[in-house]
Amino acid sequence: MERIWAPWRIQYIQMEKPVGCILCEKPGQNNDAQNYILHRGDKNFIILNSYPYNPGHLMVAPYRHVASLEKLTDEERQEHFEIVSRSVRVLKQVFNPGGFNIGINLGKAAGAGIEDHFHTHIVPRWQGDTNFMPVLSDVRVLPEALADTYQKLKGKL
Ligand SMILES: [Zn+2]
Repeated sequence: MERIWAPWRIQYIQMEKPVGCILCEKPGQNNDAQNYILHRGDKNFIILNSYPYNPGHLMVAPYRHVASLEKLTDEERQEHFEIVSRSVRVLKQVFNPGGFNIGINLGKAAGAGIEDHFHTHIVPRWQGDTNFMPVLSDVRVLPEALADTYQKLKGKL
């Protein structure tokens, strides 16, 4: 797999990670716009990744704090992948990418950043990538870029 050059993610890599679970905390707050929550299903929600590899980098997660795929109930799993599928369809319409990486990292050894709360990454890809994310001094995604992505997708998922 070709790696994405995403230098702004150094901020995420270096930062002090929050003690709690953001995939529990964010949907628990009543502040979807600021938390970049794009959609709330019955069992799962969609959130914009604040440290994206590319514009439109989404995460789908169950509300329930479960660490692994096989711990999802049938209903949770079914809705989870329906939402993943719908996300791909909407991202195609809105961003017209050349492809996608859709990924689940189970466990720290596999590279999971939030290892205790199962989630699926959806990363739109373009030929060549890297020139689409407006960055500041090469290391920080402009907050406006995330807000802009949020506005483009809000209501469509
Ligand atoms: Zn959690």
